Amino acid sequence: MKTRVVKVGKYLIGGENPIRVQSMTNTNTENIVGTIAQIRQLLSVSCEIIRISVPTHRSAENIKIYKKEFPDTPLVADIHFDHKLALLSMEMGIDKLRINPGNIKNPRYIKEIIESASEKNIPIRIGINGGSLPDDILRKYNDKLTPEGMVETAQREIEYFEKENFHNIIVSLKASDVINTIKANEIFREKYNYPLHIGITEAGGLYGGTIASSVGLGILLYKGIGETIRVSLSADPLEEVRAGFTILKDLGLRKYGVTIHSCPTCSRTEINIIELSKFFEEQFSKEKKDITVSIMGCVVNGPGEALQSDIGIVGTRKNILIYKKGKIFKEVLKTISKEELLKIVKKIVEKEK
Ligand code: SF4
Repeated sequence: MKTRVVKVGKYLIGGENPIRVQSMTNTNTENIVGTIAQIRQLLSVSCEIIRISVPTHRSAENIKIYKKEFPDTPLVADIHFDHKLALLSMEMGIDKLRINPGNIKNPRYIKEIIESASEKNIPIRIGINGGSLPDDILRKYNDKLTPEGMVETAQREIEYFEKENFHNIIVSLKASDVINTIKANEIFREKYNYPLHIGITEAGGLYGGTIASSVGLGILLYKGIGETIRVSLSADPLEEVRAGFTILKDLGLRKYGVTIHSCPTCSRTEINIIELSKFFEEQFSKEKKDITVSIMGCVVNGPGEALQSDIGIVGTRKNILIYKKGKIFKEVLKTISKEELLKIVKKIVEKEK
């Protein structure tokens, strides 16, 4: 289903537009220096939409400063419980609100938020979280979290917004459970054409959370569901952005920097693949050019993989072969340091595209 299009700052979300990657700061929003530094770091890895928590009056006021510092970056205010913080965030120039209407219970307060958002043309994400469904809906499903219950919660909120003639909506249905998240988003997409922000909430640490998100988001995106994504990790937010882009890149939906293909190693391995691939990944983590580098342990699959890559590094019994566009470009001694090898590869990258 083709979705509606919602404008978040400079980006259009939904329709045929690229799937945007977002993350969230984990600094104290009252701490201006720390938050500005983290937003800058997130931008350095190409984060496209940045959400900040707004738990206090001071943090809402600070939005004005953040918008002045980053006028081009779509900023989203994450609001819970206090509708006044939503109103103040909009006054301070926020580009989008994320609210969980379940915890701003008074309909009059939600109406005030909708009125101000309509007037200022600010979109709102209705964020349904598996951990905070209304009691009556939970009861209906035997106190169990179900995808149907999540969609019903979203439906209830959407009806309220639609009654106020407000359609500038993005919806998210997140649970820490991958299957519930997938099903809830599938059911939702059958019924509504609002853009979906997808993610697995409270997914876990860098390892488990990245896998859970890759499975959940990968399945949804492959089915064409999801217009913007956030990989939630108990880790450095920069990792969320890298993971998000990598998921999109692996599905052929976006391009993002250097891709390293390296072999799993075996008894034929002639060079230290594990150390090299880790080192190259780190060194190229901020490179923006769309380039593939294969790092292979021997000639069994090395030359073939090099043929599919922009740059190939292949260990052989005698030396290391460096390929450029499938052809041998240089032969170096196995004793070469990883730093020297990187220098050669970086030179090729600089000349590429
Ligand atoms: Fe083993 Fe060579 Fe395959 Fe690497 S490329 S896993 S070293 S056979």
